[in-house]
Amino acid sequence: MTNPPTNPYGDGHFGPYGGQYVPETLMSPLREVEEAFLTYYQDPSFQAELNRYLHDYVGRPTPLYHAQRLSAHVGGPQIYLKREDLAHTGAHKINNCIGQILLAIRMGKKRIIAETGAGQHGVATATVAALMGLECVIYMGEEDMARQAINVFRMRLLGAEVRPVSSGSRTLKDAMNEALRDWVTNVRTTHYILGTVGGPHPYPIMVREFQRVIGRETRQQILAQAGRLPDILVACVGGGSNSMGLFYDFLDQPHIRKIGVEAGGLAIEPGKHAARFADGQRGVFQGAQSYVLQDAAGQIMPTHSISAGLDYASVGPEHAWFHDTHIVEYTHASDAEALAAFQLLSRLEGIIPALESAHAIAEVLKHGPAWGRDKIVIINLSGRGDKDVDHARKFLLP
Ligand SMILES: *Cc1c(COP(=O)(O)O)cnc(C)c1O
Repeated sequence: MTNPPTNPYGDGHFGPYGGQYVPETLMSPLREVEEAFLTYYQDPSFQAELNRYLHDYVGRPTPLYHAQRLSAHVGGPQIYLKREDLAHTGAHKINNCIGQILLAIRMGKKRIIAETGAGQHGVATATVAALMGLECVIYMGEEDMARQAINVFRMRLLGAEVRPVSSGSRTLKDAMNEALRDWVTNVRTTHYILGTVGGPHPYPIMVREFQRVIGRETRQQILAQAGRLPDILVACVGGGSNSMGLFYDFLDQPHIRKIGVEAGGLAIEPGKHAARFADGQRGVFQGAQSYVLQDAAGQIMPTHSISAGLDYASVGPEHAWFHDTHIVEYTHASDAEALAAFQLLSRLEGIIPALESAHAIAEVLKHGPAWGRDKIVIINLSGRGDKDVDHARKFLLP
């Protein structure tokens, strides 16, 4: 590309957060991804193809569902669920994967790599690689591979190679380090599909743009169903992509409350949670400046959550900025509260939510009764709980 396109999305800094804290060798691959994104994302033929896959393959628009029995149970506002659990592969992650693989094809890449923790992003990436007939390598910590054996099998069934990572704590952050190492070595042929609004620029803005479809649809749907915009939006925050996707198209409405729910785990004590805004400090982790759970010496702390998708020591840098500027309110739900919400939604609505999404439901169960009957609340149901039934069973059976 000879003429770098002008950039309406900024340079990846959100106040003091974001940036590109990477080795020199990664600067040119990141630049290549940014230029491809800026060039193609605005291209009508790219948009047409993206929308066709989102509609025909992912199953969008996902429904906005008025949960009347849940609303009656809470006894306060009318509660609506944005049904990302009904997207192909069972969560919102596919929205980003479809967008990035269409970019990879236009960049002439033949090979896709990704990191995965619980395996959800790995499955979504392996899915789009199969769809497009590209080679796919997924890096996964050995510890996570043992815990998520079914997802390892799923990825292999989809034709991906799953590479065990045995360094460090043998979990998500180590898998991401390995994926970055692979990328540096194979950048000519390879695109790295990062799974959330984190990591170095341009990933936070690019993933955000691919997830904004959630909020765009929600805005139209609530106007059609309720005749007005909502009062409160609630979503769980792991890396921050499903919440960013829901909130972003409502940022022009500052009076609409936006609540991000992190993993409160067992307690807000070192090593027992993943609530970066409750107990984290500004720091650099895996390519960006953000809020990080670290000790006084800057060592990354161990984290814990009942839901693997929220169990991460940092959070997307734009969320850090939204936190400091009070654009979004951040809170947390504990393992026990999420587990209770998981059961309650199953019984009241016949919808088994992902344990991640159950954190958002837990927040509405806790504070919803005080919110007033004239209010409209929308919860992002980021994924379905089929993947979690085995895990939940261990806690729920005597
Ligand atoms: C991965 C995942 C999350 C957390 O990731 P975000 O980037 O914060 O959205 C939440 N819900 C589900 C179902 C997931 O699979």
